[in-house]
Amino acid sequence: MSRYRLQPSPAQERVLLEHCGHARYVWNLAVEQHAHWKPGRRSAPGFAEQCRQLTEARAENEWLRTGSVVVQQQALKDFAQAMANFFGKTHKRPAWRRRGRGEGFRIVAVKAGDVRRLSRNVGEVRIPKVGWVRFRWSRAVPEGVKSYRVTHDAAGRWHVAFAVIPEPVPAPGTGEAAGVDRGVAVSAALSTGELLNVPGLRAGEKARLLRLLRRLARAERGSNRRGRVKAAIAKVRAREADRRKDWVEKTSTDLARRFDVIAVEDLKISSMTRSARGTREAPGRGVRQKAGLNRGVLAAGWGRLVQRLEHKAPGRVQKINPRYTSQTCNACRHRAAESRESQSRFRCVACGHQAHADVNAAENLRDTAAGHAVAARGGLPLGGPANREPQRDLLLVR
Ligand SMILES: [Zn+2]
Repeated sequence: MSRYRLQPSPAQERVLLEHCGHARYVWNLAVEQHAHWKPGRRSAPGFAEQCRQLTEARAENEWLRTGSVVVQQQALKDFAQAMANFFGKTHKRPAWRRRGRGEGFRIVAVKAGDVRRLSRNVGEVRIPKVGWVRFRWSRAVPEGVKSYRVTHDAAGRWHVAFAVIPEPVPAPGTGEAAGVDRGVAVSAALSTGELLNVPGLRAGEKARLLRLLRRLARAERGSNRRGRVKAAIAKVRAREADRRKDWVEKTSTDLARRFDVIAVEDLKISSMTRSARGTREAPGRGVRQKAGLNRGVLAAGWGRLVQRLEHKAPGRVQKINPRYTSQTCNACRHRAAESRESQSRFRCVACGHQAHADVNAAENLRDTAAGHAVAARGGLPLGGPANREPQRDLLLVR
C-alpha cells in the first residue's frame, strides 16, 4: 500500500481539517437520510438526488460553500459506493462518522502533474484549495496515480495514500486453472493444496494490544493519557492493516502470474447461501466465536483480494456460485453434509476420499470454472460460473 506521511504547514493543516469536517458532514447527512429509509418506502435518495441536496446545502450554508465541492461530492460518491458494498454484503452498513476518528477525504481524477518529487526524501501533492503539500518520499510513488486519500489519524498524523489500478499481470499461458476458497482457520486454500494465511499481529504485539486496551478502559475520558493510549492502539492496528494489504498485493500478483484462470466463490451469492464457513455446515466448538473474531478481518481481506485479482488478471477471474462446494467430494462428486467432518477435515462418506475441507472446496471451484459439470449424485449440479466470460480455449487445455 502506498501510504506516505503528509507534512502540511500549520496554515495548510487548517484547510485540511476543514476538508475533513466537510467530508464528515456530508457523509453523515447521507447516513441520516438512509437511516430513515425502511423497506417498502420510497427509495432513499440516490447519488444524483444527494448532489442536488448538496447544492442546496451549499447555497444556504456559507461554511460549506467556502469548502471544496470536489471534496464534498466525492464524500457522497464514497457513500454511494459504501451502500453498494453493503447491499452486496461484502461490507457493513456505512456508519456515522465522528470527529477525530478515521477522518479523511478522497480526491479523484488526479492528473499526472499533481504529484511530484522535490528531493530524495520529499514529494509534493496538489490538494484542492490547499495547494502543494509536502510528504515524505519514503518509497517510490507508483506510476499513474488515479486518486488519493488524505487521512488524519487518532494520533494527529496526516497521511496520503495513492491509489492506482495495477497493471494487468501477463497470464502464464499454461491453461492451468486454480480454485481459491476462503476459510476461517486458513485465510485462503488453493486447489493446489497450498494454505495461505493473512499475517496478523505477532504474539508480542497481541499482548501489547491487550495491555493497551485494558489501559484504555481504565483511563479517564478526555484525559491526555487516554489520548496517548488511543494513539498507541491506532498504531498497532495500522500495522496489522498494512500487513493484510501487503499480503493481498503479493498473493494476487502471485496467483495472476501462475494461473490462467482463477476461480473464486461469488461473494454476492455465498453470503446468501451460507453464513461464515464452519458455522452452519460444520458447527464445532468455538467455531462461531472464532469466526466472529475473524470475520471482519477476513471479509475485508477477501473482498480486496478478489478486487485486486480482477485488476491484475482481467477476464481471467471466474466467480462461481459456491453452493455445495464444501459438501461435494472432489474425487467422486458425492454430495453429503456429513462428509464435512469438521471445519478443516473432509472425508467422503461414499468413497472415503480425505482432504483438507477448504482445499476440497477450492478444487470444486476450479473444476466448475473449468466447465466440468460437478453434478452431485441425484442432486443439483454445482452452480455454474456466475459471470459469463468463459475462456474456452484456455479452459479446454486443462
Ligand atoms: Zn467421494
